[in-house]
Amino acid sequence: MPLDRTGRARQRVRMIRALFSLPCLLAMVTSSLAAPLEVGMARTDITPPAGYRMRGYFNERLATGTADPLFAKAIVLRQGDERAALVFCDLIAVSPQVAQAARNRASNATGIPAEHICIAATHSHTSPMFSGSLRAFFHARAMEKWGHDAFEMVDYPKTLADGIVKAITDAHAALRPNTLRIAAGEQRGLAFNRRFHMKDGTVRFNPGVLNPDIVRTAGPTDPQLHVLSAHGADGKAVGALAVFAMHLDTVGGTLWSGDYPHHMEQTMRATLGAGFQMAFGAGTCGDINHVDVTVKERRLAAEIGRTLGERAVKILAQSKPVTGPSLAVRRVVVEAPRQTFSAEAITAAAAKMDQIGGKLPFLAQVEINKVYDAGQRRGNTLPLEVQVFRLGADTAIVCLPGEVFVELGLAIKDRSPFPNTLVIELANEDIAYVPTRKAFVEGSYEVVNSRVKSGAGEMLVEAAAKLLLQLRP
Ligand SMILES: [Zn+2]
Repeated sequence: MPLDRTGRARQRVRMIRALFSLPCLLAMVTSSLAAPLEVGMARTDITPPAGYRMRGYFNERLATGTADPLFAKAIVLRQGDERAALVFCDLIAVSPQVAQAARNRASNATGIPAEHICIAATHSHTSPMFSGSLRAFFHARAMEKWGHDAFEMVDYPKTLADGIVKAITDAHAALRPNTLRIAAGEQRGLAFNRRFHMKDGTVRFNPGVLNPDIVRTAGPTDPQLHVLSAHGADGKAVGALAVFAMHLDTVGGTLWSGDYPHHMEQTMRATLGAGFQMAFGAGTCGDINHVDVTVKERRLAAEIGRTLGERAVKILAQSKPVTGPSLAVRRVVVEAPRQTFSAEAITAAAAKMDQIGGKLPFLAQVEINKVYDAGQRRGNTLPLEVQVFRLGADTAIVCLPGEVFVELGLAIKDRSPFPNTLVIELANEDIAYVPTRKAFVEGSYEVVNSRVKSGAGEMLVEAAAKLLLQLRP
């Protein structure tokens, strides 16, 4: 029987009542999924003074000035009660001590759980040496010689932790209901796998341009460039996280620099406005750099940054809103097997530390530093943290420790149920390279300069894949 006007009105009231019934209301209140996703971004300058030691190579190198300032760039996310923060520092690596201190302090200041905070390094080779075995050796040598360390004129670990905490608290204070958009594209011809099968049957890293003994590359690249952008009410992009897998070692010299991401951000600002903020997440690039062995010329930071920045702007223009924003964080600590050495080997390495930066073959220097470093660690395993941040039904971010081989990042993307999986390395730890099982058999630099045993990388992949599956909406 057709309803008259009052009948239709009554039906509408019943429907509305049903909609706001107690269980329904409870569901709405308890679920943070319906709440808007808020994004805040902020940065602090973490440039050390000139004269401080630089890290990037195996010699003692002092900064003479600044090409472009180093930053800690924070992105804070909030949806209902769920909160998270990711910080990207223009550093070669972040020490676990600084990362843990900063996470705890930022958590106290903002209420974001420390486990929901990731402190990652971009891997700039023109950044300070403030931790690790080489720094410990140089510092001890200075103290012995002069009674003080003139190259540590500031307490940089404290300055850095202060800077990271301030970036997070400022980003937290800047939270706004923004729209998160995601886009992925490709940048080919810029990044190269740096490991090669040679004519003598060995595998070598960086064998030199136009080397006639190169047979073929020993691994793939990951040309994917992800751009995760935040947009204001007017639709304008206010900032972005860009993730690309290629070593940040395109500058060199003795001036502080954020390397090619600095130029990438400048390029994006030329189109998107001076206030646009770009944070750079290093993709898994343990075996990837910018050296094209088929040509003599080497691309410089400005050109690389411009190319990536222009590509990122184009990719961003094609972006789509992250579907069903639903912030959630999961993490796990993997006990990865560690390379251990006898007490005699460690004593012998300690005695040879002063030969680093000298005439010894490069890999011998790397080995000495690795064994010396092992002497400063305890136990047979290294606790390695894997974090996964779900942003929505189609987008997740994975944070891994160490310089992770590209094959491992590709495996995570392959197994992820999220169409957009951003895999970022060098998070919360300083453990040098994480090669594949295959690379451990082949050898060369990254294997020598690794703190973990064969299989640790695959354990990280398993852990990340499991967390991604758990977070599948
Ligand atoms: Zn590296």
